[in-house]
Amino acid sequence: MNVSAISFGFTEITLSICTVLLIVILLCQIIRIRQSAKEKNNENVQQPSKLEKEYKKLEDAYQQLKMANNKLDEKYEELKVSEERNKKLAYVDYLTDLPNRTAFTEYLEYSLSVLKKGHILSVMYIDIDNFKLINDSLGHSYGDELLLDCTERLKQVLDTNDYLARFGGDEFIILTENVINMWEYEEKINTVQRIFAQPFILALKEHFVSASIGVAIAPKDSNNAQMLLKNVDLALYRAKSIGKNNICFYEPSMNEQIMTKMETQSELHKAIREGQFELYYQPQVDLDADKIVGFESLLRWNHPEKGVITPDKFLPLAEDTGMIGTIGSWVLREACNQLKSWQDQGFSGITMAVNLAARQFKDPDLVNMVENAVRQSGIKPEDLELEITESVALDDITYAIDTISQLKDLGIKFSLDDFGTGYSSLNYLKYLPVSNIKIDKSFIDTIIEDKSDKAIVSAIITLARNFDLDVIAEGVENTDQVSFLKEAQCNIVQGYLYSIPVSKKDADSLLHNMGKDEIHNRFKNGM
Ligand code: C2E
Ligand code: CA
Ligand code: CA
Repeated sequence: MNVSAISFGFTEITLSICTVLLIVILLCQIIRIRQSAKEKNNENVQQPSKLEKEYKKLEDAYQQLKMANNKLDEKYEELKVSEERNKKLAYVDYLTDLPNRTAFTEYLEYSLSVLKKGHILSVMYIDIDNFKLINDSLGHSYGDELLLDCTERLKQVLDTNDYLARFGGDEFIILTENVINMWEYEEKINTVQRIFAQPFILALKEHFVSASIGVAIAPKDSNNAQMLLKNVDLALYRAKSIGKNNICFYEPSMNEQIMTKMETQSELHKAIREGQFELYYQPQVDLDADKIVGFESLLRWNHPEKGVITPDKFLPLAEDTGMIGTIGSWVLREACNQLKSWQDQGFSGITMAVNLAARQFKDPDLVNMVENAVRQSGIKPEDLELEITESVALDDITYAIDTISQLKDLGIKFSLDDFGTGYSSLNYLKYLPVSNIKIDKSFIDTIIEDKSDKAIVSAIITLARNFDLDVIAEGVENTDQVSFLKEAQCNIVQGYLYSIPVSKKDADSLLHNMGKDEIHNRFKNGM
């Protein structure tokens, strides 16, 4: 082996060692890099990237949105339920569960819109008579019970062509479609009315109620829902005004009548404002003394265009509308003042009779009003006589006894007007603290030719005497009647034979001429 060979071998070994070293170093470096890469990787896992952060935010927002959405869903469900409830409230009557006025009107509108040519539909409007009385006397819960009973009874007599609704407080309404013939429909109306024939058991007692019914038919009476409802209302109004428990079909003339009524009503308001009322006076004559012993005040309306209007033309309306209160208190003051004026002129021993309408008599302020009128005029209370009819007195006899007694305690007298026309039992006369009875003109009219009227008038006079009451005969028109009344011992009379009701001025003249000639010769026809 030579040196060069040895040195070559050494270099080779060195090279090999260096190579191995290099490899080792490289390996170490790779391991380190990997290690650091791995660490970096790990670090990356622990610290999310920006994107991941955004993603997370989005995820959170989504979750929140989802929750909010769920809440919205819940709210929506709640709203839906309450909307349905409101809708029910708007269309269903809370007490009877029947369709209400809105539902009925919409159904009627729809039915009319699809009503085929030649077909008929009918509306029956039912109003319970005196429902207020049940409500007032037994309380509202019994009123409700009555309405529920009516609903059940009505349902039982109706069929699939009928749509029943509660239209108002005590009002029901039935729409009947496919009316084939009126005869059958009228039968249905009668059946409906008959459901009221059986008593209603309320508060363990039987109560009888009746109903008034108005009917309107489409297309005859209108093919417009509002018009048809207005017309059926007029028909019901008529049914009630002719005495309840009645059935009325709509007629076009009802429109005119209601227009006239509305006109009269506004004219009455004007009449009150402008003082168009005047009192007339009809003398009451004592047959024995042959002199005027009193006057009955009778109201007249001096209409600027229509002339003098008598009370029968406007007092019922004044009562209906409550205007009688204002008119009545004016009448009372005017009559008291007039009497005072005559008394001041020296005419003593005359009384003044004033008529009280039913509504006035029931006014809780009546006693007060009468007391004031008497005091302010300065007349003596015993010179005033208030007239009420038997029917007004007996409508609520306890109230009547109490009210009449209060006024009697003040000295004021009461007369029973139109006596004999109302009640057959006279037993109540014992209890009513009245001073006079006025025999109705209808008996006086026929006392000469009708034997039984003669007997009735004689009996009334005897009865009155037994009860210590004075008797006035009304509507005396001839001397035969006077002879009969004198014989029967009825001394005070009133009628055209002596005088028609006259103005204040003419009544003045009657008083001034009193006692000169035979009374009936001069008083006749007003003078
Ligand atoms: P009434 O109280 O029965 O009055 C008597 C009516 O008979 C009066 O009618 C009178 O004019 C009439 N009359 C009297 N004598 C005769 C007669 O011999 N023959 C005929 N055919 N009729 C006679 P008027 O004045 O038209 O009064 C009608 C009714 O109006 C009265 O009937 C009364 O109920 C009511 N009334 C009159 N004025 C008032 C008032 O101021 N207030 C109230 N609430 N009602 C009044
Ligand atoms: Ca009268
Ligand atoms: Ca009368």
